[in-house]
Order: sequence, then structure tokens, then C-alpha cells
Amino acid sequence: MTSTDAMAGINNSVMDIPESLPLAADLIARFEALVPPGRALTELADVAPFLIEQRDLFKGRTRLVMRPSSVEEVSAILALASETRTPVVPQGGNTGLVGGQVPRSDAEIVLSLSLMDRIRDVDAVGRTMTVDAGVVLQRVQEAADAAGLFFPLSLGSEGSCQIGGNLASNAGGTGVLAYGNSRDLCLGVEAVLPSGEVFHGLRRLRKDNRGYDLRNLLVGSEGTLGIITGAVLKLYPKPAGREVAYVGLATPEAALRLLTRAEHEAGHQLTAFEIMPRIGIEFTVRHTQGARDPLAAPHAWYVLVEISSGRSAEEARISMESILEGAFEAGDIEDAAVAQSIADARTFWRMREEMSWAQKPEGGSIKHDVSVPVALVPEFLERANAAVLAAIPGARLVSFGHLGDGNIHYNVSQPVGADKDAFLARWSEINGLVHAIVAELGGSFSAEHGIGQLKRDELARTKEPVEMALMRGVKAVFDPFGIMNPGKVL
Ligand SMILES: Cc1cc2nc3c(=O)[nH]c(=O)nc-3n(C[C@H](O)[C@H](O)[C@H](O)COP(=O)(O)OP(=O)(O)OC[C@H]3O[C@@H](n4cnc5c(N)ncnc54)[C@H](O)[C@@H]3O)c2cc1C
Repeated sequence: MTSTDAMAGINNSVMDIPESLPLAADLIARFEALVPPGRALTELADVAPFLIEQRDLFKGRTRLVMRPSSVEEVSAILALASETRTPVVPQGGNTGLVGGQVPRSDAEIVLSLSLMDRIRDVDAVGRTMTVDAGVVLQRVQEAADAAGLFFPLSLGSEGSCQIGGNLASNAGGTGVLAYGNSRDLCLGVEAVLPSGEVFHGLRRLRKDNRGYDLRNLLVGSEGTLGIITGAVLKLYPKPAGREVAYVGLATPEAALRLLTRAEHEAGHQLTAFEIMPRIGIEFTVRHTQGARDPLAAPHAWYVLVEISSGRSAEEARISMESILEGAFEAGDIEDAAVAQSIADARTFWRMREEMSWAQKPEGGSIKHDVSVPVALVPEFLERANAAVLAAIPGARLVSFGHLGDGNIHYNVSQPVGADKDAFLARWSEINGLVHAIVAELGGSFSAEHGIGQLKRDELARTKEPVEMALMRGVKAVFDPFGIMNPGKVL
């Protein structure tokens, strides 16, 4: 058995889905007729890239990938899907980490948003940008920059993930501390509902209290309520100066004290606060070409601090220096390097951004994406480490991420020399240990990556029945035939 097979057994992947009848040839032909030639993919080699995802946890199946280029085409596809009860799996950049974008059977079709990639409008005065859902996040950042503005959503996958996928999964990332999640960065959405009707919600209003907020139901719905085809995004003034420091310290408690100090001194100017363990730095240096630890001596923990100033680089520098000096005097930090150039800042950020990838060459990795109240992060780490190491002595704990948001990617790499498949077969058991501690601390077992297929059963097990009933009710109203991304979330 390969490790992928082992994971498939655990995670509701294609392995445990009841067989359903594949799409009939005449139905495929009806779908094909809805888009220009070449936009409906049926050849195995053409659909293959839409069936695999980054972590190799899920392998999908489908006979048809539709690539519409307009809202009208999406609408026609969903109307036919509704009429024929054909399940539809929306896919953006295919960077999701919970299998939400992966089709689970030959009866399902994939609807890729990649060809819907127009930037429709930039309103520099109102500070908004209206985009198609398939625009890649990095292009949005670049277009904002070209307009003298700033779009703060920032993820390790920003070169390929799309705005529609970001909104559908309410992506977080490194800017949440100052600017919020994707939901907070969106003023309006346009979506095609399963019936084929269009929800015209592309509003640019910062205030609008006319009834229930349907935009916020669609945001974070992971493709289970409809297809987001466009969005109005909030833009921000471009920071005039940015300081990045890479700090070595002894404990998560010390990192928390540094966070409190930075928040008090810099307020909204504190734009990132990321924690990394020594072992994560070692993995990153070992497996990332050109990566180097900016500090001379090793430290048990590291923090990346970013301060942004709307006024000047000078102001950001003064603020950073004051925070670091105070923390040195208080004995909270052991060493720090402050970026002297944009290249330095990039080098520092690289240590954090490459940490996700750097775990792969080290063998199996059991992942968690958890959040707890910020003040309880050190307690969480201590208790989770004890529980995991008792279960798997020698496991390597790569717990890193958004300390400022209380969101830790608590990843467990296999012991050196361990059998990868045997290790990964313990995924559910280790998730159970870690998530029990998270629950006791009032936290969430899915802080920013969503539910998808990976965490669906755990959601049903752990959410209050009243919440599950309300979610099912919402789903039934939007999607009475259950054609939108079945088997995901609910
Ligand atoms: C290296 C790396 C780093 C990452 N870092 C972060 C991080 O810091 N924070 C974070 O939150 N996530 C992170 N992610 C996860 C992922 O990048 C985000 O979830 C991203 O927002 C997904 O966008 P996508 O376009 O790739 O969506 P996909 O993976 O294609 O889809 C994700 C979900 O959204 C649905 N969907 C996609 N497009 C639409 C649409 N237009 N309408 C309706 N539903 C749709 C899909 O059906 C699926 O359920 C990371 C992933 C990688 C690989």
C-alpha cells in the first residue's frame, strides 16, 4: 500500500465513496455544447491535473472538466446540472488543503474558474477592486500596487490560488492580524446559484444592512452553496515603510510577551507576527535552495515581526527598534536581525513561507490547522507536544504559524527512519489527541483551511446539533437537489 492509499482510507477519499453511475455520453455532449470548443475537457491527460492536490491526500475522479469564461456560461452549466441532477465541483487554483476542490466520482463534473480572470474595475478613490473569481491572488496584489494601493491577503500559495477559492475557503494567511480574513476583505460577491440564477451582489458599499448577509454565507461555503464568479475587494493605502525582524527566543511564552509588547507599542502597525520552531528552520534550510538562517546561533523558537507605517520607513524603523530594545531588556528575546533591505526582508519571509514545503522531503507529516485563544497558545503547545510524544516517541513537532491570530499549523513529522505508511496510518489517532486538547481550550480544529472532505466527519461529530441543523437548512435552501460539491463540509 502506498502512503496515498493509506491516507485515502482514512480521509473519506475516493476509496470509500459508493460507486455511482458515470456521466452518460449524451449528457457529456449536452454540457460540451454550452462552451466554445476546447473548453470542455474529457481526455484523461487533460483532466488529470484537476484530480490531484498539493498534499497527495486525495485522488479525484471525473469524466468532464468545464472551463467557462463568462457568468452566462457558468449559469447555463449549472442550469443543466440542476435539471439533470449532475453534481458540480468548483475548482479555483487547486491549492486547497482539505480536498474540497477534488471530485469524488465519475458522476461529478469539475467547473474550473481559471478562464474567468478579468480585473473588471479599480476604484482608487473608494479603494475597491472588482474582479472575476478566477483571478490569481498575486495578480490582484500586483494590480493594487500598480494603482498605488495595497491588497493585504497574503498566502504561501498566492502565485496560484484564486480570489474565488480564497473567498470560498475564507482564507487567512499572514495579514489577518491587521486586516482580517478574506471575508473581511470582501465587500460584495456575484455568484451563480445551483439553479443557474445569478446573485448580483457586487456591491461596493462599506455599510449595507438590508437583511441577511448572503455574501457572508457564500464566503466560506467551500463551493457547497453556489459558484462565486466575481467579487468586490477592499483595497488599503500602501504602507510607506515596512520593517521586518527575525527574532530568536527561548519559549512560546516569551514569544507571547513579545506579541503583547508589539501590539501595545505598534497597534495597527503590527502587520504580521509568525512563530517558527527550530526544527522548522532546520528543515527549511536543508530543503530550500538558497535559504539560510539569518541568525548565527540556534534558538529554540523564532518569530517574524513586521511593522508597517503609513507615514514613513523611518517611523516603522523607530517603532521596531523600540519594541526589540524593550524585549531585550526584559529578557524576552535572545537575538534579532532587522532587515536592512528589501532582499533581506524577502530572505526572512522565505524562512516562513517555505516551511510548509520543507516538511515533505522529511517523510510523512500529520497536519493540524488549529486555533485557540491567543493567550493559550503556549499551554496548547505544551500539552499537545506531551500527548503526541507519548504516542509517537521521536516524532518531530513542526508547530508554526500565525501566533498573532492564535492559529498554529501543528504538524507532526515522522520519526527519523520510521515507516511512512505506518506513521500516516495513525493520522486520525493523532488528530484525535490534538483536537481534544484544542476543544478543551475552547479552540477550533479548522482555523483557516476549511472542512472539505478531510474534516467533514469531525465537523458533524463535534459541532452542536443546533448548528449542524441550521447549516443543513441553509444548504437545502440554496441547493435543494444537493448538486453543489456533494460530500464536502456536510
Ligand atoms: C503552500 C500553501 C500555503 C497555504 N497557506 C494558506 C494560508 O496561509 N492560509 C489559508 O487560509 N490557506 C492557505 N492555503 C490553502 C489554500 O491556498 C487556500 O485555501 C486558498 O484560498 C484556496 O484557493 P484556490 O483558488 O486554490 O481554491 P481551490 O483549492 O481550488 O478550492 C478550495 C475550495 O473552494 C471551492 N471553490 C474554489 N473556487 C470557487 C468558486 N469560484 N466558487 C465557489 N467555490 C469555489 C472549492 O470547491 C474548494 O472547496 C495554503 C495552501 C498552500 C498549498
